Amino acid sequence: MNKDDIAQIRQLLSAPKNIVIVPHKNPDGDAIGSTLGLYHYLKKYGHNAQVITPNDYPGFLKWTPGEETILKYDSQTKICDNVIADAQIIFTLDFNAFHRTGAMEPGLEASKAIKILIDHHQEPDDYATYMYSDVSMSSTCEMIYHFIDMLGDTDKIDETIATCLYLGIMTDSGSFRFPSTTSTTHRVVASLIDKGANNSEIHNLVFDTNSYNRLQLLGRALSNLKVLPDLRTAYITLSQSELNRFDYKKGDTEGVVNYALALENIIFAAIFIEDKQEGIIKISLRSKGGFSVNEFSRAHFNGGGHNNAAGGRSESSLKGTVEKFLSILPEYKSALNYG
Ligand code: 5GP
Ligand code: MN
Repeated sequence: MNKDDIAQIRQLLSAPKNIVIVPHKNPDGDAIGSTLGLYHYLKKYGHNAQVITPNDYPGFLKWTPGEETILKYDSQTKICDNVIADAQIIFTLDFNAFHRTGAMEPGLEASKAIKILIDHHQEPDDYATYMYSDVSMSSTCEMIYHFIDMLGDTDKIDETIATCLYLGIMTDSGSFRFPSTTSTTHRVVASLIDKGANNSEIHNLVFDTNSYNRLQLLGRALSNLKVLPDLRTAYITLSQSELNRFDYKKGDTEGVVNYALALENIIFAAIFIEDKQEGIIKISLRSKGGFSVNEFSRAHFNGGGHNNAAGGRSESSLKGTVEKFLSILPEYKSALNYG
């Protein structure tokens, strides 16, 4: 984002506007933290701002300041369509293509509002009037901090905004351990703590509020773990009936794939989760080092994301999807055995 863009955006935001802020479907900590962080910032300028998520999000995000103001497109479609129709500016955060918003795609495409994209995923589509895309960033929340900074407004970041932004930096950086965590990330986080983000409490609210069933489901996932040492790959499956047995709630499988990556010598991890309602297998892929799961997912599983973390989907059965995965892997043998 260059100086001209920033000057134009500052001008745009100088008088109150109707503003909609949208994250991707199945919002995670970064999606909720960045949209609400921006929401609270825009409110300070008297804008009529509204966060609309494509659908619901996990219970461990339902303490985020302002969360109760969020409209959910799948259950409040009519109201949302009206709000989108009146929008003068639409911020799209933490995604790179309209289809990642599911059923919101046609409405966003049709809208004449000025679009501002802020995102750290690979290969963003070219729909935005203003685009702040940086794949080297730890999180969209870190980018919102820089965005507010570019607008000359870090002094407007209060405890509420700091809490939202801390949330997403923490979750997307794997609690500050992924390679995307830079010294700048730590400086931003330090500044957020200075502004009032309670780091220990936020961590606790997100990671230490599990239900008994969720931990039991994790136990089942770990006992389903399969290892392919020659391919330095490990994967986990969870069928719909296993999810049902442990009273699956949205978000319960978040982070499970990382356990497969925590194995010695493993650099590629996958989880395949059956979703009977959507009729798909949801796939999460993670890697260490140079093996790009973004490319792997784009090539074989209709998805994408980042080099070391990507999502995808398959329309075959759970068994068929795993078979496909296993049949593709040998092509990558040398890529997986580097170093
Ligand atoms: P997860 O495996 O947790 O669903 O996703 C991992 C990362 O990849 C997240 O940053 C998520 O936003 C991104 N991601 C998941 N699915 C897709 C997809 O279909 N396309 C793209 N471009 N990114 C995705
Ligand atoms: Mn993100």
